[in-house]
Amino acid sequence: MNYGTVLDKLIDILSAERGEKAPPLTDGQKPGYFRALCNVRPPEPVSDDFLQLQDEYLSARTRERGVVDAGKLKYNGNIALWRGDITRLNADAVVNACNCALLGCFIPLHGCIDNAIHSAAGVQVRLDCNGMMNGSLEPNGRVRVTKGYNLPCRYIFHTVGPQVDGKVTDTNRADLKNCYLSCLNKAKEMGLGSIVFCCISTGVYGYPKDEACALAVSTVKDWLKSCCNSLKVVFNVFTAEDEDIYEHELA
Ligand code: ADP
Repeated sequence: MNYGTVLDKLIDILSAERGEKAPPLTDGQKPGYFRALCNVRPPEPVSDDFLQLQDEYLSARTRERGVVDAGKLKYNGNIALWRGDITRLNADAVVNACNCALLGCFIPLHGCIDNAIHSAAGVQVRLDCNGMMNGSLEPNGRVRVTKGYNLPCRYIFHTVGPQVDGKVTDTNRADLKNCYLSCLNKAKEMGLGSIVFCCISTGVYGYPKDEACALAVSTVKDWLKSCCNSLKVVFNVFTAEDEDIYEHELA
């Protein structure tokens, strides 16, 4: 699909908000330019016209990426492993690894999961988060819920994982474990059937991947055994390295 005209309008609206005029762009440059404008956009009210166009564009992009039904993955018990872009997964909840401001990533086109999720879901997510946070900072290991908007999932669970500086501390371990437990307990409380975890804290936040995986898997398995045997849990990995680590841990 050629989104040229829709993107022109969206880019014009966001550029006008910034008191700028958009530079001449090729069709190939427009998606990235639009995403970058959304990434840096402060959480301020936005017009219904913008939202209608944005939702038309983002929902078409979601369909184009190819929606993956979390219910149809291969499960061993209640647990599945899936490698790919979390913004493709149709589950009740997907877990976003956030920073403590909880407003998404403001770095244009940054490769973190927070940026990927906000960019694909729409500017409404930042607005909702801002409404909940009201300038405060989110402690590590808790969870906040927004709708999925233009993602295939119903809800986004926003959690802040620990930032590791050198050696992993007991506090880091407790915080990471609490991210998983808070999300699992929230899913149960909301009566959800499926939840997708990304590899929280193991990217920019520097938690060693093997250690984080072992903690994630044991926490989820113990919780399923003692608290709830009906929730489907997907471990979503993005890289081949993480896939190997999880395959080994789950075996
Ligand atoms: P953190 O700051 O918590 O470390 P990052 O976004 O840097 O968060 O990384 C967390 C994990 O998310 C990493 O394992 C990274 O490979 C993964 N990731 C990044 N983008 C995506 C995506 N689009 N879908 C799924 N996982 C992703």
